[in-house]
Amino acid sequence: MRFIADFHIHSHYSRATSKQMNIVNLVRWGQLKGINVIGTGDFTHPRWFEELKEKLEPSEPGLYKLKSEFEEAIQAQVPQKCQQPMRFILSVEISCIYKKNDRVRKMHCLLFAPSFKVAEKINHELSKIGNIKSDGRPIIGLDAKKLFQLALNASPDCMFIPAHIWTPWFAVFGSKSGFDSLKEAFDELAPKITALETGLSSDPAMNWRVSNNDKYALVSNSDAHSPGKLGREANVFNTELSYFAIKNALEKNDLKTFESTIEFFPQEGKYHLDGHRACNLRMEPAETKKLNAVCPKCHKKLTIGTLHRISDIADRKPGIKPKNSRPYKSIIPLPELISEIKNVGVNSKTVQKYYHDTLNGLGNEFYILLKAPIAEITKCSGKELANTIDKMRKEDVYIDPGYDGEFGTIAVSNKKKAKKSK
Ligand SMILES: [Zn+2]
Ligand SMILES: [Zn+2]
Repeated sequence: MRFIADFHIHSHYSRATSKQMNIVNLVRWGQLKGINVIGTGDFTHPRWFEELKEKLEPSEPGLYKLKSEFEEAIQAQVPQKCQQPMRFILSVEISCIYKKNDRVRKMHCLLFAPSFKVAEKINHELSKIGNIKSDGRPIIGLDAKKLFQLALNASPDCMFIPAHIWTPWFAVFGSKSGFDSLKEAFDELAPKITALETGLSSDPAMNWRVSNNDKYALVSNSDAHSPGKLGREANVFNTELSYFAIKNALEKNDLKTFESTIEFFPQEGKYHLDGHRACNLRMEPAETKKLNAVCPKCHKKLTIGTLHRISDIADRKPGIKPKNSRPYKSIIPLPELISEIKNVGVNSKTVQKYYHDTLNGLGNEFYILLKAPIAEITKCSGKELANTIDKMRKEDVYIDPGYDGEFGTIAVSNKKKAKKSK
């Protein structure tokens, strides 16, 4: 069966997340967005782990679902046309801070467990090494390779995915504290890595420039800190619905079972270009190079974004499509499109009402953004939204790239906000 998975989110026990990030809201919002499998996030956090065990029960092998006693109340809040089965996969993001080859390394890593029992083993081992109680995304003074080994010792069925691999501060290839290759970071374990997460600030085409990574599946996830941000990016599978079928599809990097990804426009990510947010300076990689990566205003090192970092490591020119590359589609979240046509804030009541009315009439957000016939959108939600979605699908958009922690803007018609892409 075809299903959509978003593997990387955070619970309300992670820093800077919404109080709304609890299980029932994930079940509701997963359906509104059109996601079938959501990573639980944060399974190392004792209280979140308790919540997971209280609310979830086993379904297909390695996956979990909401217990029926909690289902009815939440399904009443999901429009008929959006209702679909929702599954969970046990996941956590861990921030590893350690020294390797005489340099301090900081890397975020995604871990997946096939059962509560295996997750419990991992939690037990990690609690001996660091503090897993204070943050849903724990910071552990452990070599990322050793973390991977620890998970494999708990069960060879665990999955390991380096997170948002190109972002400057906390990533395997990050400009500030990363590595130049997976081999350097993981030695003999490098070939066992399940997949690589491209992150919001890079897309598959940018990643195709690094031939060393060709053998790994490139996954895309939302890294959502609030329910409305679920599915900003996601993965489309066409296989059996189970933990093991997902693992198999990723490890084989197979185009039939792991079909495609759904992406942010990478320029909307917070670390696409280089610059200094505090100095209000944003620049393209070529300009940064001319300045030797030193800020002309404050004379400190500029923050190097994903575009620059990829071009440093790349062995292919931009625009080359390796064979067996996986197709993807770039989207702008529906609330952002509505905000643009209504010319009011994305969190305003007007946008929220329009959003939910559209979902009531048409179905889930992925269906609306990617599949719904334009005539159907026009009929239900007006010509303006239909035109906007049509332009987004054709990638006929204005782009104002993000840098140094500042999100970029992608707009369909707002020229003041962003410059034209084509
Ligand atoms: Zn992270
Ligand atoms: Zn500066």
